Amino acid sequence: MDRSLGWQGSSVPEDRTEAGDDKEYVGFATLPNQVHRKSVKKGFDFTLMVAGESGLGKSTLVNSLFLTDLYRDRKLLSAEERIMQTVEITKHAVDIEEKGVRLRLTIVDTPGFGDAVNNTECWRPVAEYIDQQFEQYFRDESGLNRKNIQDNRVHCCLYFISPFGHGLRPLDVEFMKALHQRVNIVPILAKADTLTPLEVERKKRKIREEIELFGIKVYQFPDCDSDEDEDFKLQDQALKESIPFAVIGSNTVVEARGRRVRGRLYPWGIVEVENPGHCDFVKLRTMLVRTHMQDLKDVTRETHYENYRAQCIQSMTRLVVKERNRNRDRSRN
Ligand code: GDP
Repeated sequence: MDRSLGWQGSSVPEDRTEAGDDKEYVGFATLPNQVHRKSVKKGFDFTLMVAGESGLGKSTLVNSLFLTDLYRDRKLLSAEERIMQTVEITKHAVDIEEKGVRLRLTIVDTPGFGDAVNNTECWRPVAEYIDQQFEQYFRDESGLNRKNIQDNRVHCCLYFISPFGHGLRPLDVEFMKALHQRVNIVPILAKADTLTPLEVERKKRKIREEIELFGIKVYQFPDCDSDEDEDFKLQDQALKESIPFAVIGSNTVVEARGRRVRGRLYPWGIVEVENPGHCDFVKLRTMLVRTHMQDLKDVTRETHYENYRAQCIQSMTRLVVKERNRNRDRSRN
């Protein structure tokens, strides 16, 4: 008898024995199913930040990634307004559902980043925003009602690098160095359709070298388990070698080889967003959504948030010791 619980075709084995196995069966093999059911019921959340100069295609890429129009009410500023604008942080949230699994996706955007004449320290508001989310979580976690904490911590930051420069610009280096201890940075080579395949390869290599040279710690994909199959290992290797992901975004659907695809239509042809021969869009989406979303959340919780929390506790302890010493000195005098 197969007592199916009715989701994703999973089945719970017999109470006492497994077919073909005379070992007694207790039932804890259903634990993964229980966890699965509970998580599906609760739903998932993910917060993605996009950063980089305006006009590099951040909003177009986010819309292409999640197939939603997250920027319906965005107001585009004139050049004059952009010079005056300081970096502001905006949040767009959307609930997406796929096969009964709910995902609450929050996109944190940083309009105004890199737009001013003087951009020194324009990473600061972004860093402050990330710290504020950690601070809020830390407070909620130490408070009375810890059950329903709203988690706004940023799990990943897609950092857009211009395809028109020679590798990283000083602003890119400054931003990534200021943020790499706070958030998982995934570097993106924007608007890859403006480069030839050879240029893409050269730029990617240069950017990787500079990341290394400047000691920037971008998000590290976890190592494969040694018992993974060869195909998986090769895919994983290809993913690691794709950094920075060269992407193309488009909000329009065009006709290519008799199929309707998301792409960009040029007088000389069509570039397809989801064609792996044209760019790394599919690799990026697979990584973000299918393979590494949970790891990005785990690293946020276990590394970035833990660093913040340890610093907080350290400075709180220092304050208490200082206060105690002051009181002791006072009572002596
Ligand atoms: P944002 O300011 O970084 O959010 O940039 P937008 O998404 O608003 O894009 C700015 C302009 O670049 C728009 O005209 C887009 O159509 C165009 N664009 C977006 N992605 C790409 C891309 O991958 N390649 C090219 N050539 N243009 C793009």
